[in-house]
Formats: sequence, structure tokens, C-alpha cells
Amino acid sequence: MEYLIPDVEAVDRQPELLAIRKNLVGLTRDEIAAALVAEGETEKSAKMRAKQLFHWLYYRGASEFSDMTSISKEMRARMPEKFTVARPEITSLLESTDGTRKWLVKFEDGQEVESVHIPEEDRGALCVSSQVGCTLTCSFCHTGTMKLVRNLTAGEIVSQMLVARDTINEWPSPKGNRMISNIVMMGMGEPLLNYDNVAKALKIIMDGEGISLSKRRITLSTSGVVPKIYQCGEELGVNLAISLHAVTDDVRDILVPINKRHPIKELLQACKDYPASNNARRITFEYVMLDGINDTPADARELVRLLKDIPAKVNLIPFNPWPGSNYICSSNNTIHRFAKIVNDAGYSSPVRVPRGRDIMAACGQLKSASTKERASSRYQATGRS
Ligand code: SAH
Ligand code: SF4
Repeated sequence: MEYLIPDVEAVDRQPELLAIRKNLVGLTRDEIAAALVAEGETEKSAKMRAKQLFHWLYYRGASEFSDMTSISKEMRARMPEKFTVARPEITSLLESTDGTRKWLVKFEDGQEVESVHIPEEDRGALCVSSQVGCTLTCSFCHTGTMKLVRNLTAGEIVSQMLVARDTINEWPSPKGNRMISNIVMMGMGEPLLNYDNVAKALKIIMDGEGISLSKRRITLSTSGVVPKIYQCGEELGVNLAISLHAVTDDVRDILVPINKRHPIKELLQACKDYPASNNARRITFEYVMLDGINDTPADARELVRLLKDIPAKVNLIPFNPWPGSNYICSSNNTIHRFAKIVNDAGYSSPVRVPRGRDIMAACGQLKSASTKERASSRYQATGRS
């Protein structure tokens, strides 16, 4: 089912205005203040205004200055000359039969990414993208077949949360019972290869005066950019998920090629050293179940051995096929036999129920049209947008 998206203020798309107006979404409070000072505001007033703007942007969800009623009328009228708080455009919004929603979000330069909301009874996770495409080429991942076009800015990362909350109508930031109660950095791209922008965006999302999402409700998934795992642990302290997917370097080199740079031993050492992990906050190890590749009982036992001394849980992901993929998902029996071995060794090992497969929103199925290829050839190659 496809929604028609109402158009935002036409002025927000006029290229000549976009070129001169600075978008405040994705700026820290200090950066907003500095932008105001650059336009002639005194330091003291800019600091106070920045606090108000931050509140309107992230606590109230305002997408126009005219809504910001605690700011003087004169300033509300003046701000749009130099600044904007416009959201990116939603070019499509699909809803799965299981309630999963997928947004295709288009940025000012025309590049697009996908974000996915996976609702549960009284909560839900928003799966956020960090890059247009991915430079890594994990052989089972659809996003990995895209050429990276570019990193997302902090504003573009935060904006995915803002447009999702607009759709779900979750403003002002509720204290509890949120439909977007968690964020998983598991969309398109490798978040740790765009660390600075991801860190800035997550700090804004965690800020207590705005969206105020606890670091305990944010999970960052990485294929194993080891040096950045250390930095992420020290600076952000969010939950960590590792796309492990194999128990030997030979197999992981093929599935997750960054393994050639940072092999399993080095990766697991970074996990052991991860400061935010403990028995209450375990590291999630994601393991995609690929028929005949990584799914034997011996693999399961080796996984248990590798995870010794790490506060870990295992997430078994049935492989989600995509047009042109070369793998087959392991059988149910194989997956459950694997899960039992890991579970019996004391690790929680749920099998992830694929969500949103009918709208290509499940793990590893995301891919947008933003490649350097001609769109027409890509449509033929994948049969989707
Ligand atoms: N780049 C990051 C985060 C995005 S991918 C990472 O790799 O961790 C989110 C998860 O989906 C990762 O664990 C990824 O390995 C997994 N995944 C990728 N393709 C998949 C597929 N076709 N089926 C199931 N899981 C897949
Ligand atoms: Fe990139 Fe993650 Fe896909 Fe690998 S699994 S290609 S790191 S998005």
C-alpha cells in the first residue's frame, strides 16, 4: 500500500533559497548559537535562542519557524530569510501487511535512503540509515551491491527520526509508551565508517531537552570497523551489535570482507573491551543463516567457544533473499538445531522473525535508487526501486 505524501511548503524546495539558507536540523545547540551570531545576534541572546530552537525542533517537532510560538514574532518572521528547519522529502511510504513501515527519504541533492519502523505492541524500533549505499561488499547484503554515493550528514540522520515521528504523530516527545522507543543503526550503510556524523546525530537524539532517547535504547550495528568500536564505546556508550555471521576467518573473509582487515580475533577483543557492555547490557551478535555456508552444529559449537568471556546474546537472522542474491536461507530445522546448541550453552539466541519482507524492508534488503548507475538499468537488474 502506498501513501500519497502531502507536499511541504513549496518555498522549502526552491533551489535558490536552499542554496543560501542554512538548515538547523542536525546542528548542536552551540552550532545553532554560532549560526545566529554569524547573522548578527549577540552571544547572550543567541545562546538563549539556540536553546529555544533546540526545544522546538526536537521536543515539539516543529518543522516551520512560524510554529515556534515562544520565539518573538519578529524573529519568527526573520528566521526563514537565512535559515530553514525543513525536513527531507518522503518520496514513498510503504506499509507491510505486518505493520512494518518503510520510508524512502530524499535529500536536497536528490540522493535517497530508506528507513524502517518495526512496531511491536506498545513500542517499536526505527531502523536508520547512515550512508547512501555502502562501501563494504558483504556478499549476502543488498545494500552492499550499491556503489556508495556518499555519507549522510548528521542532519540527514536525525531527519529520518523526525519524518518517522511526523508520520506516526509522536510529538511532543512522550515520556513513556513511545511507538518509536528504540533506534537501531541497522539501515543502509556502515555507521562506523561515517562515525562523526552518526555520533553527532545520536548525541542530538539522546539529548534530554529534545527527543531524549536513552543510550540504552539505541543499538549500533557494525560489520567490524574495530578502531571505531573503541571510540564508539568511549564516546557514545550505546548498545553494540556485531555482524559476525561466520566463525572462521576463511568463511568470514567471503561473507564480510572487512574481516580481511580486522579478523575475528581482533573483533572479539574489541567486544571484550567494550565499556558499555555487561551482563545487563549484552553485545548482540548477528548471525545470518545461510544454507550450507555457516549453519552446521560444529559452527554453532565454535560460536559458543568464541563468545566465551563476552556478555553476549546471539540473534539468528534467516537470510532475506533479494533479486540476484546467490544464497539460500537455512531450513527451519537447521536454524532451530543451531539455536538450541547456542541456547543450551547459556546464550539467548532468538531467531529473528523477518518483518516487512513484502515491502523489501527486512534486514539486508534495503537499497535505494541512489547509485551512479543509470536508473533504468538498475530497475531491470533488481525489479524494484
Ligand atoms: N552495516 C551494518 C548495519 C546494517 S546491516 C552492519 O553490517 O552491521 C543490518 C544487519 O542485516 C547486519 O547484521 C547485516 O549483516 C544483516 N544483513 C545484511 N543482508 C542480509 C540479508 N540479506 N538477510 C539477512 N540479514 C542481512
Ligand atoms: Fe554494508 Fe552492513 Fe550490508 Fe555489509 S551488511 S554491505 S557493512 S550494510
